[in-house]
Amino acid sequence: MFRNFRADYRYPSIYQIPLETISSDGVKYIFTDLDNTLVADGAVETDFQLSNWLAQTKLLGLEVVIISNNKSEQRVADFANPNNLAYRYRSGKPSPDVFYEMMDKYDIEVEEAIMIGDRITTDIFGANRAGLTTILVEPVDPKEPFGIRCMRIIENILAKLTKEDV
Ligand SMILES: [Mg+2]
Repeated sequence: MFRNFRADYRYPSIYQIPLETISSDGVKYIFTDLDNTLVADGAVETDFQLSNWLAQTKLLGLEVVIISNNKSEQRVADFANPNNLAYRYRSGKPSPDVFYEMMDKYDIEVEEAIMIGDRITTDIFGANRAGLTTILVEPVDPKEPFGIRCMRIIENILAKLTKEDV
Protein backbone atom coordinates (compact mmCIF):
# COMPACT_ATOMS: atom_id res chain seq x y z
CA MET A 1 0.00 0.00 0.00
CA PHE A 2 2.97 2.29 0.48
CA ARG A 3 4.35 1.88 -3.00
CA ASN A 4 3.02 5.21 -4.25
CA PHE A 5 4.77 7.00 -1.40
CA ARG A 6 8.13 5.72 -2.52
CA ALA A 7 10.21 7.99 -4.73
CA ASP A 8 12.07 6.21 -7.51
CA TYR A 9 15.21 8.22 -6.74
CA ARG A 10 16.41 10.41 -3.89
CA TYR A 11 19.03 13.13 -3.94
CA PRO A 12 20.15 15.74 -1.42
CA SER A 13 19.18 18.49 -3.89
CA ILE A 14 18.31 19.04 -7.56
CA TYR A 15 22.02 19.55 -8.26
CA GLN A 16 22.83 15.86 -7.86
CA ILE A 17 20.19 14.76 -10.37
CA PRO A 18 21.97 13.28 -13.42
CA LEU A 19 20.38 15.46 -16.10
CA GLU A 20 22.38 13.96 -18.95
CA THR A 21 21.24 10.45 -18.10
CA ILE A 22 17.65 11.59 -17.80
CA SER A 23 17.85 13.29 -21.16
CA SER A 24 19.43 10.30 -22.87
CA ASP A 25 16.70 8.10 -21.39
CA GLY A 26 14.19 10.01 -23.51
CA VAL A 27 12.80 12.39 -20.90
CA LYS A 28 11.65 15.70 -22.40
CA TYR A 29 9.86 17.38 -19.50
CA ILE A 30 10.95 17.98 -15.95
CA PHE A 31 7.92 18.68 -13.82
CA THR A 32 9.02 20.19 -10.56
CA ASP A 33 7.65 21.58 -7.35
CA LEU A 34 8.76 25.13 -6.51
CA ASP A 35 8.75 25.87 -2.77
CA ASN A 36 11.59 24.14 -0.98
CA THR A 37 12.47 22.14 -4.08
CA LEU A 38 14.00 24.81 -6.36
CA VAL A 39 14.15 27.68 -3.86
CA ALA A 40 13.29 28.30 -0.21
CA ASP A 41 9.62 28.79 0.60
CA GLY A 42 8.49 32.07 -0.98
CA ALA A 43 11.88 32.96 -2.46
CA VAL A 44 11.95 34.42 -5.97
CA GLU A 45 15.66 35.03 -6.49
CA THR A 46 17.49 32.64 -8.76
CA ASP A 47 21.07 32.27 -7.57
CA PHE A 48 24.02 31.39 -9.78
CA GLN A 49 23.78 27.67 -9.08
CA LEU A 50 20.09 27.52 -9.95
CA SER A 51 20.55 29.65 -13.09
CA ASN A 52 23.29 27.30 -14.13
CA TRP A 53 21.07 24.28 -13.54
CA LEU A 54 18.23 25.80 -15.56
CA ALA A 55 20.68 26.63 -18.36
CA GLN A 56 21.89 23.04 -18.34
CA THR A 57 18.34 21.69 -18.69
CA LYS A 58 17.85 23.96 -21.71
CA LEU A 59 21.09 22.78 -23.32
CA LEU A 60 19.92 19.19 -22.92
CA GLY A 61 16.52 20.00 -24.41
CA LEU A 62 14.70 19.39 -21.14
CA GLU A 63 11.65 21.60 -20.60
CA VAL A 64 11.13 22.58 -16.95
CA VAL A 65 7.52 23.08 -15.84
CA ILE A 66 6.67 24.22 -12.33
CA ILE A 67 3.79 22.37 -10.70
CA SER A 68 3.03 24.13 -7.43
CA ASN A 69 0.25 23.84 -4.89
CA ASN A 70 0.83 27.47 -3.96
CA LYS A 71 -2.50 29.31 -4.06
CA SER A 72 -0.91 32.58 -5.17
CA GLU A 73 -0.37 32.83 -8.90
CA GLN A 74 1.72 35.94 -8.22
CA ARG A 75 4.18 33.99 -6.08
CA VAL A 76 4.67 31.27 -8.68
CA ALA A 77 4.75 33.70 -11.62
CA ASP A 78 7.30 35.94 -9.87
CA PHE A 79 9.72 33.04 -9.97
CA ALA A 80 8.66 31.40 -13.23
CA ASN A 81 8.38 34.40 -15.56
CA PRO A 82 11.91 35.82 -15.20
CA ASN A 83 13.20 32.31 -15.83
CA ASN A 84 10.91 31.72 -18.81
CA LEU A 85 9.37 28.67 -17.23
CA ALA A 86 5.85 27.38 -17.73
CA TYR A 87 3.96 26.91 -14.50
CA ARG A 88 0.81 25.62 -12.92
CA TYR A 89 -0.23 27.03 -9.53
CA ARG A 90 -3.01 25.60 -7.29
CA SER A 91 -2.08 22.29 -8.83
CA GLY A 92 -4.02 20.10 -6.43
CA LYS A 93 -1.23 17.58 -5.69
CA PRO A 94 -1.47 14.79 -4.55
CA SER A 95 -4.31 14.38 -7.02
CA PRO A 96 -2.80 12.80 -10.14
CA ASP A 97 -5.07 14.96 -12.31
CA VAL A 98 -2.59 17.79 -12.80
CA PHE A 99 -0.06 15.30 -14.18
CA TYR A 100 -2.59 13.85 -16.64
CA GLU A 101 -3.45 17.43 -17.59
CA MET A 102 0.21 18.28 -18.23
CA MET A 103 0.91 15.13 -20.24
CA ASP A 104 -2.14 15.93 -22.32
CA LYS A 105 -1.16 19.59 -22.72
CA TYR A 106 2.35 18.78 -23.90
CA ASP A 107 1.26 15.68 -25.80
CA ILE A 108 3.76 13.38 -24.12
CA GLU A 109 3.77 9.85 -22.80
CA VAL A 110 4.37 9.09 -19.14
CA GLU A 111 7.96 7.97 -19.88
CA GLU A 112 8.80 11.41 -21.27
CA ALA A 113 8.42 13.27 -17.98
CA ILE A 114 9.73 13.08 -14.44
CA MET A 115 8.56 14.80 -11.29
CA ILE A 116 10.88 16.38 -8.73
CA GLY A 117 9.69 17.45 -5.29
CA ASP A 118 10.52 17.73 -1.61
CA ARG A 119 7.25 16.34 -0.24
CA ILE A 120 6.32 12.68 -0.23
CA THR A 121 2.63 13.21 0.52
CA THR A 122 2.06 15.71 -2.29
CA ASP A 123 4.76 15.73 -5.00
CA ILE A 124 5.78 12.09 -4.91
CA PHE A 125 2.44 10.50 -4.07
CA GLY A 126 0.62 12.52 -6.75
CA ALA A 127 3.13 11.86 -9.51
CA ASN A 128 3.48 8.17 -8.66
CA ARG A 129 -0.27 7.77 -8.93
CA ALA A 130 -0.05 9.16 -12.48
CA GLY A 131 2.76 6.70 -13.25
CA LEU A 132 5.62 9.18 -13.53
CA THR A 133 9.20 8.56 -12.48
CA THR A 134 9.69 10.48 -9.24
CA ILE A 135 12.67 12.15 -7.59
CA LEU A 136 12.60 13.21 -3.96
CA VAL A 137 14.98 15.96 -2.82
CA GLU A 138 15.62 17.34 0.63
CA PRO A 139 13.94 20.68 1.40
CA VAL A 140 16.05 23.72 0.47
CA ASP A 141 15.25 25.44 3.76
CA PRO A 142 14.58 23.30 6.83
CA LYS A 143 12.85 26.17 8.65
CA GLU A 144 9.23 25.42 7.90
CA PRO A 145 5.82 26.35 9.35
CA PHE A 146 4.44 24.17 12.14
CA GLY A 147 1.84 22.41 9.96
CA ILE A 148 4.45 21.33 7.44
CA ARG A 149 6.84 20.23 10.20
CA CYS A 150 4.10 17.92 11.49
CA MET A 151 3.62 16.48 8.00
CA ARG A 152 7.39 15.96 7.80
CA ILE A 153 7.22 13.60 10.76
CA ILE A 154 4.72 11.47 8.86
CA GLU A 155 6.75 11.79 5.66
CA ASN A 156 9.93 10.72 7.42
CA ILE A 157 8.15 7.60 8.65
CA LEU A 158 6.90 6.95 5.14
CA ALA A 159 10.42 7.47 3.80
CA LYS A 160 11.76 4.84 6.18
CA LEU A 161 8.91 2.43 5.46
CA THR A 162 9.50 2.72 1.74
CA LYS A 163 13.28 2.60 1.76
CA GLU A 164 13.10 -0.96 0.52
CA ASP A 165 10.54 -2.25 -1.93
CA VAL A 166 7.33 -3.17 -0.17
MG1 LIG B 1 7.63 21.91 -1.81
